[in-house]
Amino acid sequence: ALSDRLSRIVKEMRGQARITEANVTDMLREVRMALLEADVALPVVRDFIARVKEKALGQEVVGSLTPGQVLVSVVNRELAATMGDGVADINLAAQPPAVILMAGLQGAGKTTTTAKLAKHLIEKRKKKVLTVSGDVYRPAAIEQLKTVTAQAGAEWFPSTPDQKPVDIARAAIDYARKHYFDVLLVDTAGRLAIDEALMREIQELHAVLKPVETLFVVDAMQGQDAINTAKAFSAALPLTGIVLTKLDGDSRGGAALSVRQVTGAPIKFAGVSEKLDGLEVFDAERHAGRILGMGDILALVEQVTAGVDMAAAQKLAAKVKSGEGFDLNDFLDQIRQMKQMGGLSSFMDKLPSAMAAKASEADLSRAEKDIKRKEGIICSMTLKERSRPEIIKATRKRRIAAGAGVHVQEVNRLLKEFEQMQGMMKKMKGGGLMKMMKRMGG
Ligand code: GDP
Ligand code: MG
Repeated sequence: ALSDRLSRIVKEMRGQARITEANVTDMLREVRMALLEADVALPVVRDFIARVKEKALGQEVVGSLTPGQVLVSVVNRELAATMGDGVADINLAAQPPAVILMAGLQGAGKTTTTAKLAKHLIEKRKKKVLTVSGDVYRPAAIEQLKTVTAQAGAEWFPSTPDQKPVDIARAAIDYARKHYFDVLLVDTAGRLAIDEALMREIQELHAVLKPVETLFVVDAMQGQDAINTAKAFSAALPLTGIVLTKLDGDSRGGAALSVRQVTGAPIKFAGVSEKLDGLEVFDAERHAGRILGMGDILALVEQVTAGVDMAAAQKLAAKVKSGEGFDLNDFLDQIRQMKQMGGLSSFMDKLPSAMAAKASEADLSRAEKDIKRKEGIICSMTLKERSRPEIIKATRKRRIAAGAGVHVQEVNRLLKEFEQMQGMMKKMKGGGLMKMMKRMGG
């Protein structure tokens, strides 16, 4: 499976300090396969891999990460950067009515998305919204828009199959202007395959409507073929945004990357259900995780990269190396570092499948709570107690437990753990510090 593929990369080549030509090739082959399995189109994959390779080469491998982990995190960041540019919401900067033209293949979700957008604009942006259908080929399609528009709480402008789409457009704009609508949403016809007549028709519509937004609606389940659809629509129309529908399905949504790369337009929204509230602002980072099949794990790699306080870790290592005693203050330092890392190293070791990843999330939050509790206990000790833990006897234990709001047994457990850690520290003399911190997290 996809996540197995990437987990393998993540685990490979431990102990190497940087990403090089020599070790990157195999890993990138896996990434390439992962993207193809997610239905990203081949030329887009090639481009993307070339960019990632350039960015990854020579990248330092910090802390407890492996080159594979660093590479996957570069891949993830590049994916998110490629798909997102922060221009999420609908642009309405136009003389009212701001016209929004919906384009896309039949079945992509144009009519549904039109109603979803109407609802969004009414509820979130307090706009007065009119919809109209230019789908004169299927009377049922006009009725469908009427129904969903009513559900969205917007107004619908009637059209009939004997009219020409451009005439409908003119009449609708006229009506919208006279009745002070802020927004006019124009639904259009789609075909099962792209054809010239359809493209000409929507170009004519575009010329008449002069829309402030021309949204390309594309089905995330369309897979590899999305790139061709996107090319055709992008060549015919100046697209201003993309709506990726049916993300509630089980596709990996690789179409997002293809469509974004081919059109250059921002992905603004994601359709996540048939219902009218099933429209979300597109989240590029989350989607990158979905494409790679690794979800939150990637975010965790990021955290490790960002969160390890290398200076403090080195100071601690030096202290142990120099033979100075390892006391509860050092233990607290370690615990705080664990907190920064979120106890993640142990989590990273459990990557083999999506299932394991889910289980580990629960582990993770438990580990985090545990870390907080330990921190609380040590903070309830005096400095003297921290540097000479052997003086902590029954009375002190009771006081510390009360201060930290825990049972005395928990104080005992912490002291025992400290002793074990101290023993290990003596044996290891500062080496393998990261390994030790990892063990603590487990
Ligand atoms: P159009 O031909 O482009 O106008 O597509 P429609 O809006 O009629 O949608 C086609 C089908 O896809 C309908 O059954 C919709 O309910 C469904 N649909 C649209 N968007 C979504 C979505 O985000 N999620 C799911 N599950 N179904 C959707
Ligand atoms: Mg339709």
